[in-house]
Amino acid sequence: MEPVAGKERRSILIAGAGPAGLTAALELARRGFAPRIVDDSSGPTPVEESRALGVNARTLTLLSPSGVAERIVEAAQTIDRFRFHSGEKTLFELDARQVSGRFSAIRGLAQGHTERLLMAALASYGIVPEWQTAIMAGEIADLQRPEVTLRHPDGAMETVRPDILVGADGAHSVVRKAIGAGFPGEALEAYFYLVDFRYAEPIDTHFGEVSVLDPGMIGRLPVASDVIRYISTLEDFESRIVHPAAIAERIWASQFRIHFRHVEPMAKGNVFLAGDAAHIHSPAGARGMNLGIEDACWLAWLIAEGREQEYSALRIPAVKQVLKQTYGLTRLITMTNPLAIAARNLFAPLLLRFGPMRRTLLRSIAGYDTPKPPWIDWAE
Ligand SMILES: Cc1cc2nc3c(=O)[nH]c(=O)nc-3n(C[C@H](O)[C@H](O)[C@H](O)COP(=O)(O)OP(=O)(O)OC[C@H]3O[C@@H](n4cnc5c(N)ncnc54)[C@H](O)[C@@H]3O)c2cc1C
Repeated sequence: MEPVAGKERRSILIAGAGPAGLTAALELARRGFAPRIVDDSSGPTPVEESRALGVNARTLTLLSPSGVAERIVEAAQTIDRFRFHSGEKTLFELDARQVSGRFSAIRGLAQGHTERLLMAALASYGIVPEWQTAIMAGEIADLQRPEVTLRHPDGAMETVRPDILVGADGAHSVVRKAIGAGFPGEALEAYFYLVDFRYAEPIDTHFGEVSVLDPGMIGRLPVASDVIRYISTLEDFESRIVHPAAIAERIWASQFRIHFRHVEPMAKGNVFLAGDAAHIHSPAGARGMNLGIEDACWLAWLIAEGREQEYSALRIPAVKQVLKQTYGLTRLITMTNPLAIAARNLFAPLLLRFGPMRRTLLRSIAGYDTPKPPWIDWAE
């Protein structure tokens, strides 16, 4: 699509073609902009190495105008129920379909698939990420007209001065460092461990499950119709998994330390940070990728409105809210004190008998606890 006269003529460079960068590019493209998007790596996240897999209802709302939500709904695993167990005892169950709005609270789709669906939509505007093209480290002196150097796959260097630079280059963001922004926060002692198994026989993928152990937890989420992800706070958790069928393949395993960090403000001059470049937190609640996609959609809308200077003030409260909530959730599932564990196992089911508490929890799983996008006029 040809850029039309006016604001859309501004040149925009997006660093990083992960979920946040691709979404920013797509949302700008469908409003008539022609952003350039570069990424250091050789292609999208491999489908077998899915990091994020929870796609929440807010993300689907945001990706509806571009048509990507429909593709995600077709490809993703529906998650109808969540079960929380302690030993043999069911602490509580949640029906993910009981959330208001068009979509159930959350679905499961490998991050690599989500990225490919975003790329396919972006390609329809003639925009393709420039892979193996890195933004080089270095201080950006003029934040109003940022100048950066790109390193191409053949080693050639290119200096560019976009009107707007979007740093969606992940947790170790070069753009964040180049504008001299810190990344304050803390790292928990806790690690999370995950493994994805493919099964040889049909399995039920339509539920998510959390088994709280004393101490620790094992979570189970669907990745594909024959693949289940197990995630735990215990290093030796694989021996405790109750497999639903014969294993065909142990696809992928990983471990990571939990950090809670965010940048403030999320923009300086005409340089804007989105996604993990701006905030990182635990995977409890499956908010990371979803929050980055939300940043990207707000930023694209504000740029199109000529109001991008409002971006940081609008996004910081949402980011803080999600970090606070995932911090609380992470503390709840990583607690080791036997008294605290007993109190949690007693009071959580009691509290969740009340409709308003269940609704609050479901709304946060759906991502509906941050401000609704004003450019989409249906009810959530
Ligand atoms: C194990 C695990 C499980 C998770 N589960 C969930 C979940 O269920 N739900 C959820 O919402 N989130 C989850 N997350 C978080 C989620 O993966 C991230 O929040 C998400 O990938 C962030 O997207 P992003 O686009 O901001 O950054 P990234 O996906 O990190 O993308 C950044 C991109 O920038 C590129 N890049 C980096 N440096 C440069 C440079 N100098 N120049 C050019 N390009 C550069 C990188 O190659 C990369 O492609 C999980 C994370 C982990 C680790």
